Amino acid sequence: MPKYIFVVGGVMSGVGKGAACATVGRILQGFGYKVTAIKIDPYINVDAGTMNPVEHGEVFVTDDGDETDQDIGNYERFLDIDITSINYMTTGRVYQTVIEKERNLEYGGRTVEVVPHVPEEVIRRIKAAQRRVKADFVMIEIGGTVGEYQNILFLEALRLLRTERPKDVLVAMVSYLPIPSKTGEMKTKPTQHAVRTLNSAGIQADLIVARSEKPLDGPRRRKLSVFCNISEDDVISAPDVNSIYEIPVNFDNERIGEKILKKFGMRPRRKDLKRWRRLVSTIRSCSREVRIGIVGKYFSTGDFTLSDVYLSVIEALKHAGWQRRVRPVLEWINAEELESSPAAVRALAGYDGLLIPGGFGTRGIEGKIKAVRQARERGIPYLGLCYGMQLAVVEFARHVAGLKDANTVEADPQTEHPVIHIMPHQESVIREKRYGGSMRLGAYPCVLAERTRSRKLYGSDRISERHRHRYEVNNAYRERLREAGLVIAGTSPDGLLVEIVELKDHPFFVATQFHPEFKSRPLRPHPLFAGFVGAALRRRRG
Ligand code: GLN
Repeated sequence: MPKYIFVVGGVMSGVGKGAACATVGRILQGFGYKVTAIKIDPYINVDAGTMNPVEHGEVFVTDDGDETDQDIGNYERFLDIDITSINYMTTGRVYQTVIEKERNLEYGGRTVEVVPHVPEEVIRRIKAAQRRVKADFVMIEIGGTVGEYQNILFLEALRLLRTERPKDVLVAMVSYLPIPSKTGEMKTKPTQHAVRTLNSAGIQADLIVARSEKPLDGPRRRKLSVFCNISEDDVISAPDVNSIYEIPVNFDNERIGEKILKKFGMRPRRKDLKRWRRLVSTIRSCSREVRIGIVGKYFSTGDFTLSDVYLSVIEALKHAGWQRRVRPVLEWINAEELESSPAAVRALAGYDGLLIPGGFGTRGIEGKIKAVRQARERGIPYLGLCYGMQLAVVEFARHVAGLKDANTVEADPQTEHPVIHIMPHQESVIREKRYGGSMRLGAYPCVLAERTRSRKLYGSDRISERHRHRYEVNNAYRERLREAGLVIAGTSPDGLLVEIVELKDHPFFVATQFHPEFKSRPLRPHPLFAGFVGAALRRRRG
């Protein structure tokens, strides 16, 4: 019988519920069980694709083309599996299905009600995700915190599933224990309240993950046990860590996996966290550094710098660095600043590598083009991802191929030389305002040309990578760009879409229409990121 482990949040969000969920999954996987993970977001949005990245963070794209929450990315990285659309749920998506079913008379003329039909649809999806991969364990993270109106129907699904299969469902509450600076004492009261709130939804937590700045001590553990109806043993201490990859090691030291198995009356089939522990000791011992500049525009919210939007890019750079025992030091370069400050442009030469990630719209693009030019002319290793590839093509067209006003039509629809233009079938999509879920999305095959850097790095002539874009290289300019020296290193199998461009006689200049960052895993760094970080390291050493 498959087991379902729900992870809910107490007190406040943003304390690592997703990482805790991924971690428990990873530990159970290490015991020799098949694990999958589901994220539930309590938004009306059908997917994350239509949300402002500054508000919501990265849009993580799956192989089957879903635009999901960044937690799905964490699951893929921790569990080293490819997750598909059925594992991502939003309120909007669930309602959409229920309403469609009603329209199709699938409820056989009955009155369709919020309860039970909405929670039933949630449970149907959870079971479908389990069946798809025949998982022994399904981790289910419910977004937000208990006590919010928004996620009550998901808690209701939990309650119903637990009533149906009491022996197969566990609930872990990830809570936060603040340490007010005035008293310096760790407080359990907010967690006690959160547990009561969960109780009022008819649910008792089986485990409490006690997130805090510091490890949990004996008195606090006892308090939580007494006031939250839970044994002391079932409170997991989860202090802050430097890297999320340390969490499986910490949780394993608390024997969370063994505790869960025992509750289900199960035994480990084997135990394997060795490679993971080795990774953590590598991360802790990396002493060398490379300095990578990331040029983007989604960094600032008020007085704070936000890097969540580029989460997978950051992780991919780290994975590649750790493999070489170096720590990538990432610096955020505001593209708009490059437009007005020649000094900022000159300072780019100080980086060991420059990366331009995906992006949309007009703001900051001339700054990004300046950064590409510096990378190209000064031999700074460059990795361009999606928009970072399109703008590299624009820069090359303008300054090497002699197409002075070349541009992407995304920025200038009237440009004389539309070297990047909209994909033909996307025109009607935009005209009819069908924005949601309508980009070129998900995994597509790509063939790599011989004697290119990409081919060498991948060690293969056919790859599959994930996409999220509406624009593409305009084939009318392909020959002209090629004659000027641009290497078309990868295309779609029919040859019609340019997927990778490179420059010869440059230490490292690779730019992709796809997003390689989504497929990097901590123990399996992505070849292009590995090549890029390697080139940055060579530059550093001079
Ligand atoms: N804005 C570009 C496009 O839609 C690039 C998208 C991206 O970088 N993800 O094609």
